[in-house]
Parts: sequence; structure tokens; C-alpha cells
Amino acid sequence: MPVIPSKSQNLGVPIGEPEIKEIDVDCLLVGGGMGCCGAAFEIKRWADPNNISYLMVDKASLERSGAVAQGLSAINTYLGDNTPEDYARMVQNDLMKVVREDLVYDLGRVVDDSVHLFEEWGLPIWVTDDDGKRLDGAVAKKKGLSIRTGAKPVRSGRWQIMINGESYKVIVAEAAKNAIGEENYIERVFVVKLLLDANEPNRVAGAVGFSVRENKVYIFKANAILVACGGAVNVYRPRSTGEGMGRAWYPVWNAGSTYTMCSEVGAEMTMMENRFTPARFKDGYGPVGAWFLLFKAKATNALGEDYCIKNDYMIDPYRKLGYATGKVMPACLRNHMTLKEMKDGLGPIYMDTATALQDTFKTLSKKEQKHLESEAWEDFLDMCVGQANLWACMNIEPEHKGSEMMPTEPYLLGSHSGCCGIWVSGPDEDWVPDEYKVKAANGKAYNRMTTVMGLWTAADGVGASGHKFSSGAHAEGRIAAKAMVRWCVDHKDFKPALKQTPEELVKMVYQPWYNYEEHKGGSTAPDINPKYITPRNFMMRLIKYSDEYGGGCSTYYTTSEALLSTLSEHMDMLQEDSLKLCARDLHELLRAWENYHRLWTVRLHTMHIRFRKESRYPGFYYRADFMDLNEEEWLCFTNSKYDPEKGEMTFFKRPYIQIFDPTWDKA
Ligand code: AMP
Repeated sequence: MPVIPSKSQNLGVPIGEPEIKEIDVDCLLVGGGMGCCGAAFEIKRWADPNNISYLMVDKASLERSGAVAQGLSAINTYLGDNTPEDYARMVQNDLMKVVREDLVYDLGRVVDDSVHLFEEWGLPIWVTDDDGKRLDGAVAKKKGLSIRTGAKPVRSGRWQIMINGESYKVIVAEAAKNAIGEENYIERVFVVKLLLDANEPNRVAGAVGFSVRENKVYIFKANAILVACGGAVNVYRPRSTGEGMGRAWYPVWNAGSTYTMCSEVGAEMTMMENRFTPARFKDGYGPVGAWFLLFKAKATNALGEDYCIKNDYMIDPYRKLGYATGKVMPACLRNHMTLKEMKDGLGPIYMDTATALQDTFKTLSKKEQKHLESEAWEDFLDMCVGQANLWACMNIEPEHKGSEMMPTEPYLLGSHSGCCGIWVSGPDEDWVPDEYKVKAANGKAYNRMTTVMGLWTAADGVGASGHKFSSGAHAEGRIAAKAMVRWCVDHKDFKPALKQTPEELVKMVYQPWYNYEEHKGGSTAPDINPKYITPRNFMMRLIKYSDEYGGGCSTYYTTSEALLSTLSEHMDMLQEDSLKLCARDLHELLRAWENYHRLWTVRLHTMHIRFRKESRYPGFYYRADFMDLNEEEWLCFTNSKYDPEKGEMTFFKRPYIQIFDPTWDKA
């Protein structure tokens, strides 16, 4: 496969009046992560025969953008011998029942195909040979062993398989770029807002963004738009401080753009109260999955006690209600038990790497022991290099000494053990309840379309269906792309018309720079000014508020009606001040808009928490005033909808419909 080099990186252009670039296209793909790369790969085969045009727009460079940018050491959704029903049950179990089983099942039917493509494109996947030995991807390849031809992948867990995935995203991006061709993607353009049609209500017609490398504002007109720009990071004050503040578990460049842009044009949101607060290796944010699953390590308190056994009684109230019935404890409830230890002063919490490795060493030769040790390091080197650096500089030898673990600050996402996002249509099939379909005027339901006509989302964007991970995000992008082409074929005569003139759009997009230009003489320090606020200072205010009032680390993830209503007042003022964000260069213009997206996302998240009067995800967040689950009132989806005309947000419930018997299969 030929390699397409990254497009030129024209750095150092001073900010100035932008030129306007208008582009008309049938299908616009906003984002460049796993979701949009899946969409790009899939769209070609359906769009080309129907003369449908397409364009992918990424704010960064496709090779290293999105959540998989740094690489991964496992693919966490590969069904293999499991059924899509089992997959739906597992997701339901982990996410405290309220999930869209139609979406999860639908994804489970196709996700393995994406994994097979990754392997075909060059991703090394570990396999188990006939003697039960696990082989690295490269060794497997040399021996001609492939999971596409029946070789067994190395499973770390029931759903997870091991890979040598440092270059995972590079491989997937290359395939996407090769599929659509160089003329059909643009890098380094940040999309700021979606634009509604001037004639048809509740119909998307375009988007506006700007280049982060040149003074250019892009105005797109499109028939169908996919927004898949990931989840949200740095929406809560992180545990990391000072120069370490760039460290986070999820990618810092995911700024809630998906949620904000879709909600702002009136897309119905769902389960925005959900968050993911993962347990990670402290300070480096290294992943724990391989340690728990592959290396069979245990987490302990400072006394060396396995607190998951000690605190098991804490899960009983949930079991009585039919929760935590699967083989794996829901991630939030695992945290629930960890937090108790921390509050009781029994921290630090440790991952007991030493016992796990020493126990396995007993069954291995010296050479095999060395290999196992390098697997442990590679787990970090594949996807979280900073953690390997931290281990090295702290003289940590995992075979001799455990490492501290800590629940992180909250992240908002819909692909890992989290499920906030946008309400979308399920597949237009008989078994899918009508309540789960979004019907267009022609009576058809287009898979993964939001409640705004012509607008799609995928991956972290789709709410109430977590556990997609990288492979599921790719597969979901493919599902969306196929439906978008169908939409364009069915709506060939649509002529998108924008409400705003190009000049009005430029004024809106470049406002932070105009703010700076107008007021830059108002103080001697450029980052402190009575008339404007820098994006960094804006973010500091935002994350201080969310942390202290919205259930961040500083309150052990606890909030209440009183705290949330105070937060809401602060957010109102921050919203006013968002008009005063400044940008001194193109990079800061990007930061200004990212932080605007963060603000809207935090508001959605915390207003949803306020609406749901129970604590559905103990360990992820608590409402001190409603600590329990309330099955009668809240075993349902909590949705919100912003009315772009009136500027009002409404909250309402949608019924949860159980499709698959939750009784855990005993296989
Ligand atoms: P992580 O490394 O936490 O991102 O997780 C990778 C995979 O391991 C995901 O599929 C998680 O659901 C799963 N996982 C992580 N921790 C555990 C655990 N303690 N028990 C079972 N599964 C886990």
C-alpha cells in the first residue's frame, strides 16, 4: 500500500484577516479519529457508484489524531466466538443497564470485520500457536498465522485481544487516506459550528471552521454531515499540575466538540450525566487493563489487602436490584470500592505488579521471564510512553515493586466504559423498537442519524452505547457512512442554504482575534486584561468550577443540588465571558474555540447530573442528596434538547426498552 505523506505543516503564519474558502460537498466528515477513518474507508464503495462526493476534515494530522493517536496495546472489542447478544449483555452490565441494546448489538454484528481489516493493512496482532504459546504479531506474521485464517488471537479478556499497536492509528489513517484520495481530505482545519438550513427547520446544511496553519475560514455546505470529534478532556481539573498538566488519560485535544456542535443545532443528547473516571497508574495515567486481565494483577490498599474482596458487601444493595450480575464488576462499582479505601485513609492504592509477575515467573524459563517483562513495558510503550518514562525515572522494577493507582479526573466519552453522547437512530429493522428509531419525513430511519435531519455521529459521539473502543469506533463510522450515502441518494434534490453570510461567519469565527486586537494595549501583561480572557485562563476557571461544584476529584466526585445550582450561576457568567475570549495567534484561536466547546459540554454534563435525581454510577459520581438508585423513577434515558431558535434547553426522559434478557450467559 503506498504511503501518503502528511500534508505540509505551514507553521509560523501570523494571524490576520482571513480569506474565505467555500466548499460544496454531499457528505462532510468532521473529525479524523477512528470513527471518521472508518467512515472514509466505507464511504467510497457506496458513494462512488452513486456520484456522491465526500470530504473529511480533521483539525490535526490524520496519522496521529484522535484517541488512538499514541497507539494501543490491545483491541478491546473483538467478539470472535462470542455472540452480539453476549456483547449487548456485557455492555448493559458494565453501564448499569441504561444502554441502547439495539446500537450495541448492531455494532457487535460487524466490529470484527474492522479488526480483520486492520490486520490486513499491517497491524501486528498476537496469536496463540498450536502449543498454546503466545506469539508477537511480527512472529505470527512470519509464520503465516493470521486471525483472518483461523489463528487464535491472544485474549487478555473475554472481549480483548493483544496487539503490537504503536502504529495502530498510522495504519488506519493510511487506509482511510488511500481510500478517498488526497483531494478528499483536509488536515489542520478546526470546525467551530454546524449550520442549520435557511429553509428547512431542523435540517443541517453546513459547517464553518478555520485553518490552524493559514488565515483561511472554511464554509462548507453539505447534504449529510458526520461529526465524530471524540469525547471531552480537561473539562474537570486534572490531578496533574504544573508542567505535568498536559498529562491526562484521554487525549487532551478532545475538547467536547462533538457534543457541543451537535447540541447547539438542536440534536437530542442522551445520558450526558455519564462520565468515565478510570483507575489508572498514578501520575503517568498508564492503562490498567492489561495488568488486571493479562498479567492477573490485583489492586490492594496500603496494607496489602485486596479491597475488592473486603468491600464486596458494598455491592450487595446493587445486586439486590439486579446489577453487577455479570462476571466482571461494572467499572464504576470497582471505583466505588477503591474510593472507600481512600476516604478511610487506607491509601495509597497499589497495583500489585510484583506478585503478579513473580507468580507467573515460577512457570517460565529465564528467557520467557525476560519476554514477559518486556511485554509489561511494551504495554505502556505502545500507548502511554509517559508512564514508561515515569517508571524509568522512579527506578520502578514492576517485578519487584507495585505501583500506585488512582482514580483520575472525569472524562466524557461514549466509547470506553462510558456512554454519554447523542441520541441516534438504531437500524431500520423489525426487531428494533420504534422508540429507538429516528424517522425522517420519508418514513425511513437512517442508522446513527441524530434527531437533526442530515446530521450523523459515531464513536464517542453516540450516546448510551459504550464499550466500542477503537475497533467499534471504526466500525460505527462505517455504519454511519453507509447510511449517509443512502440519505444523499434519497435526498438528491436538497440544496443547502445557509442563514448567515460568509462575512458574518468570519466575524464570528475570528472574534477572539478581534477582541485581542481591539484591547491589546489595555494592560502591560498580554495574558491579563480587563477586556479579554485568554483561553488558558478561561479553562482554569472552567475546571476549577467543575471540580469544586460538579463532582470532581476535590470532593471525591460528590455533588448535590446546592452545589450544582451554584455551578450553574458560575457557568452563566462564564458563558457571557466566552464572548470575550481572545486569540493572539492561530494556535490560540484553536484553543479559544476548544474551550468554548468544553464549556458547553460541562454545562450539558452537570445539568444532566442535576436532572437525574439518583446516583446511577457510584464510583464515577455521587449525588449526596440522592445516594441510591431509584429504579422506579430513573431506569430510563435522560435526554436534553437545546432549541436554537429560543435559546432554551429542555430535559426529559425516554423509556429504556430491554431487548436482551440480562441474565448473564454462563459460558
Ligand atoms: P483499560 O486498560 O482500563 O483501558 O481497559 C482495557 C480493557 O480492560 C477494557 O476492555 C476494560 O473494560 C477492561 N478492564 C480494565 N480493568 C478491568 C478489570 N479490573 N476487570 C475486568 N476488566 C477490566
